[in-house]
Amino acid sequence: MNWDALRAAGCAVRRPAPLADYTTFRLGGPCPALVACATPEQLTLALGELQTAGQDVVLIGGGSNLLVSDQGLPQVVIRYASDQPQIRRAGDGVEVSGSTGLDDLAAWTVAEGLDGLVYASGIPGTVGGAVAGNAGAFGRQIGDVVETVALLDQAGLLRTAAAGDLRFGYRCSRLQTSGEIVASLRLRLTPGDRAALRQQRAEFLDLRRRKHPDWRVLPTAGSFFKNIAPTSAAGRRQAAGWLLEQAGAQALRVRGARPFEKHANIIVRDGDCTAQDVFDLAQQMAAAVQQKFGLALEREVRLLGRFG
Ligand SMILES: Cc1cc2nc3c(=O)[nH]c(=O)nc-3n(C[C@H](O)[C@H](O)[C@H](O)COP(=O)(O)OP(=O)(O)OC[C@H]3O[C@@H](n4cnc5c(N)ncnc54)[C@H](O)[C@@H]3O)c2cc1C
Repeated sequence: MNWDALRAAGCAVRRPAPLADYTTFRLGGPCPALVACATPEQLTLALGELQTAGQDVVLIGGGSNLLVSDQGLPQVVIRYASDQPQIRRAGDGVEVSGSTGLDDLAAWTVAEGLDGLVYASGIPGTVGGAVAGNAGAFGRQIGDVVETVALLDQAGLLRTAAAGDLRFGYRCSRLQTSGEIVASLRLRLTPGDRAALRQQRAEFLDLRRRKHPDWRVLPTAGSFFKNIAPTSAAGRRQAAGWLLEQAGAQALRVRGARPFEKHANIIVRDGDCTAQDVFDLAQQMAAAVQQKFGLALEREVRLLGRFG
């Protein structure tokens, strides 16, 4: 494997790499190599080189929706994330790299007076990760404003897909099973009032500060389970947090893993624990809801690697 070619292109290569350093849960064992790519060009090159070398690849973004096994992963990991937002206006749309931070994008749209993404203020992770999982909040999701997506397959071959082709649903898209990677995308936003957008952003950030844990202090991956789909067209989703609270999940602990006191659907690390401990706690929480309500909670957090 020609690691120097990747380094020469500006990718950072770490061999081996502890995946705990790359997830907001701060958990996860090692992978044989981690290649950090910031731009679509670096990502394309890395995929091509790794494919030529016959290496299996796992892609991550900001690692904010992941629980990685304590045993780590046997594959090479590509991390597609950047501290430098790559965003530009293109005609009547906006183009952004998948590596750009979602909150950086939200802040940019507010500064530009563009409406359609301000609710995403404060959601960690990358734009690519957000598209893959159709991230959202307050009843809105990023899929609503996606126009087209530049997708790379595992060999680094590029194609453009329309939003309809991605089959966006509640916290899901076709990309979660296809293995294709969001290199960049084009968004459709509407003009808005800058002052009003600034005010909304401040309110969303304040709400998150009050209701959510700061993952830098209490490691977490946000909501662990999805809300439950309505049983009729007229129904609303049942909040997993409410179901968990009613089922007594707040009393559950597995070593340092526990539900966040203000939101039972958020698991935090409050002391020593492993990824397996978080997994075991999540199993107990889901079992409590199953027992009390007869409802099966579905994970929102993505698992990588093996769990007992
Ligand atoms: C404190 C906190 C609050 C949160 N609040 C919210 C919230 O309000 N709403 C919400 O929806 N989520 C929330 N999350 C979860 C998380 O931030 C989002 O799901 C985020 O969009 C994940 O992006 P990521 O880059 O971190 O993806 P990762 O966690 O790195 O990866 C998640 C999945 O996406 C895939 N992926 C990553 N990048 C790409 C790409 N470029 N192309 C294709 N697939 C890719 C990975 O392969 C993996 O399967 C929260 C998390 C935390 C820690």
